[in-house]
Amino acid sequence: MHNLNRHAKRHLLGALLLFACSAACAESPRRVSTIDLIVAGDYVVIMDESGQVVKDGAVAVDGGRIVAVGPRTDIASKFRARRALDGAGKVVLPGLINGHTHAAMTLLRGIADDIELIEWLQKYIFPTEVRFVDADFVRVGTELACAEMIRGGTTTFVDMYYFPDSVAEAVESCGLRVLVAASVIDQKSPDAANGTESLAKAVDFARRWKGRNNRIIPIIGAHSVYTLKPDMLKRIRAAAEELGVPISIHVSESRFEIETTKQNYHTTPIHLLNDIGFLDGPTIAAHVVWPQDDEIPLLVQHEVGVIHNPSSNMKISSGIAPIAKMLAAGVRVGLGTDGPATNNDLDMWEEMRLAAFLQKVSTMDPKVLPARTVLNMATHGGAEAIGLGEEIGALTVGRRADLIQVSLADVHFVPMYDVISHLVYVADEQDVTSVVVDGRILMRDGKVLTVDEPRVTREARALAERIRAALASTP
Ligand SMILES: [Zn+2]
Repeated sequence: MHNLNRHAKRHLLGALLLFACSAACAESPRRVSTIDLIVAGDYVVIMDESGQVVKDGAVAVDGGRIVAVGPRTDIASKFRARRALDGAGKVVLPGLINGHTHAAMTLLRGIADDIELIEWLQKYIFPTEVRFVDADFVRVGTELACAEMIRGGTTTFVDMYYFPDSVAEAVESCGLRVLVAASVIDQKSPDAANGTESLAKAVDFARRWKGRNNRIIPIIGAHSVYTLKPDMLKRIRAAAEELGVPISIHVSESRFEIETTKQNYHTTPIHLLNDIGFLDGPTIAAHVVWPQDDEIPLLVQHEVGVIHNPSSNMKISSGIAPIAKMLAAGVRVGLGTDGPATNNDLDMWEEMRLAAFLQKVSTMDPKVLPARTVLNMATHGGAEAIGLGEEIGALTVGRRADLIQVSLADVHFVPMYDVISHLVYVADEQDVTSVVVDGRILMRDGKVLTVDEPRVTREARALAERIRAALASTP
């Protein structure tokens, strides 16, 4: 009996041990799942509605999406990552969104400065483009822009240019996210003889690229109300509607545009677009420097995404967009650099700073456009303005893993009382150390991994040399 008892006890103990072990031993490998990437930071700036900043935090990424965000130790206990970006002395935030640019115009920066928009376009840019811009020019110019954007912490941009296949292919290889607007303009352009041909080409491009790669989103680019007649604008909207894609368009950029619209149509640009039904589909409106007071509600009503480009607006004296007023009315506002020939770079940190300062000085009120609002315009708010508010712009579970690390090592960050203030009013492109798009590392420790910079700069210089020589020999 005694022996049996001991035997039974041992058996029971063994069973208990086995049970305990099977629970613990089997559970621990199941609890720690293996994922693609963990990005850590002394601060993780989420940029969702909560306004939360996680101290000593981390973002877990798998399959191109964010799977968890939280304190670094929590993330480390739950996940094992194949790759990791260390967070000591760094801030993690959503990648910046450049809502309006013409990337390949990197090759034309500095070709004509210090003049206003219409003279710049008609005398210099349109003729130079028709003469020199081809598929290869666009490929090289876009690759150069991609290298500059990656190194500066931009992860998504909205492009509007010619030869959109070259843009899409260049961005496909560099790894950024892009909305590629195939330009429609009713005059001879580098890739079409007139508006009808350029619209047909844009539609063909959008059809071929739609759904092909989640990072490359084809859209239609309508140049403006002063380069496209109402009938053509209506045809563009109808085509976009049929394709199910948004339209990007320059709107109310200069006083010239307001005056010519008044002369030709006895109305103002936003009213004109509204009257012809152009605003009935998703619209990304670049600039909107001169909206009339009664036009602002139309932008809200049609959920138009307005992209503010302060550098360009200042450099070519287009004016000061009433951003604070539009935000207060409920307009979705993002930020952009405009093309690098009116800026003359692709630096979103500079746009954030200028956007804030320009509103403050023009309203003589330092409370307008505080740092957090401006950072939102470059991230989550910008994502909403370009129709990707659910997918990117904030570091929340389920969103695409588009994020960057900013190093706090530079003396200009010392001391630090408020991380958001420093990101907007201090940080520069050079402080960005890592860039991740769709879970893929495009830059690590300040080194761009997806663009062959020596080759691209060599090709860009060679192209610029040809342009310079041809312009010099032109009487
Ligand atoms: Zn533009």
